[in-house]
Amino acid sequence: MSRLQQVTVLGATGSVGLSALDVIARHPERYQVFALTGFSRLTELLALCVRHAPRFAVVPGVTAARGLQDDLRAAGLATQVLVGEEGLCQVSADAEVDAVVAAIVGAAGLRPTLAAVDAGKKILLANKEALVMSGTLFMQAVRKSGAVLLPLDSEHNAIFQCMPGDFARGLSQVGVRRILLTASGGPFRKTPLADLEHVSPDQACAHPNWSMGRKISVDSASMMNKGLELIEACWLFDARPDQVEVVIHPQSVIHSLVDYVDGSVLAQLGNPDMRTPIANALAWPERIDSGVAPLDLFAIARLDFEAPDEQRFPCLRLARQVAEAGNSAPAMLNAANEVAVAAFLEQRIRFPQIASIIEDVLSLEPVVAVNDLGAVFEADAKARALAEQWLSRNAR
Ligand code: NAD
Ligand code: MG
Repeated sequence: MSRLQQVTVLGATGSVGLSALDVIARHPERYQVFALTGFSRLTELLALCVRHAPRFAVVPGVTAARGLQDDLRAAGLATQVLVGEEGLCQVSADAEVDAVVAAIVGAAGLRPTLAAVDAGKKILLANKEALVMSGTLFMQAVRKSGAVLLPLDSEHNAIFQCMPGDFARGLSQVGVRRILLTASGGPFRKTPLADLEHVSPDQACAHPNWSMGRKISVDSASMMNKGLELIEACWLFDARPDQVEVVIHPQSVIHSLVDYVDGSVLAQLGNPDMRTPIANALAWPERIDSGVAPLDLFAIARLDFEAPDEQRFPCLRLARQVAEAGNSAPAMLNAANEVAVAAFLEQRIRFPQIASIIEDVLSLEPVVAVNDLGAVFEADAKARALAEQWLSRNAR
């Protein structure tokens, strides 16, 4: 390798960001951290800057920036602190950057991720909400700039690994019949339905196989995560919603499968550790060590599969409807879900009310075309306002 690859990690203090930095630090001969961004855990961000000595750090506000800048100077570092969305977009698009790990959670990641796309970077996409919200525009921007979009979501990275290299020609052209998107079923797969009224945020965040941020953990418990991933898969692989089937696989060892017309089904397996998809995307098309232990099939012993229950998981049904509707519907679904999940985490609503809020919001607004980013943010804002109105009417 001629020179070090410069990597920006958006959302460096989060679960995916930290896993990405772990993989990067294993390969100092290949990668150098260009910028790190954080939103709330700024002491952790300082520690990460001391460890990785990035050129830039980005924080949300001016006061936080001053504090971090002083601490960095005191630590003898030349890292320059930038502020807010403008700072995030700058470190995504900087001419010196080769790859951007998009690991901010939620709609807040859309503009910085698109800045990396428009600048033609290699994008390692964890921030599925960004793609769900703006699918058509996002993929148009990728084609226009020639950006290389690589999925970090473990399922989509698995699908990517099982697809032929020329899948962009179209799934039917390359003999793909279906994508089988696996889901663990989360912590409430077997909880009696009546008990879901009383589950706590901590119970919802106690995922059986993965350790993740709190928003995606709640999404996994409601299976909205799989709904968002269904939409994500449609965009990444140019699939119709009916070509993506959700399969519950409680062990989370098979990360997804691709079903070909000749009857072959290719799967990617591995321990549930985000460092595998991160290492795969970072080094693609090469392979590098991720630090993940080898898979022990004898210890796993068995793999189970079952069909998802949409009565238990209404979010999955709503996401499938939205995937079919397209246009402004995915941005509305995503925004209503973000408001509902935050309200659940603050214990303002009960767990089943997450789906009720989303369903009500979707029923109140007609689906409209989204021809530019302004229309995406308009749909997002409308859904947030409707969800907030729901909360002020109904919250306990
Ligand atoms: P997390 O909550 O652990 O981390 C989120 C990161 O985003 C943090 O660095 C935080 O500071 C930053 N952030 C939050 N709000 C922000 C804002 N308004 N502006 C700027 N930065 C902000 O979340 P996570 O689990 O790491 O997930 C990150 C993304 O990756 C999500 O979109 C999630 O769906 C996706 N993802 C996560 C996993 C996983 O294993 N954790 C797996 C697949 C996909
Ligand atoms: Mg996933």
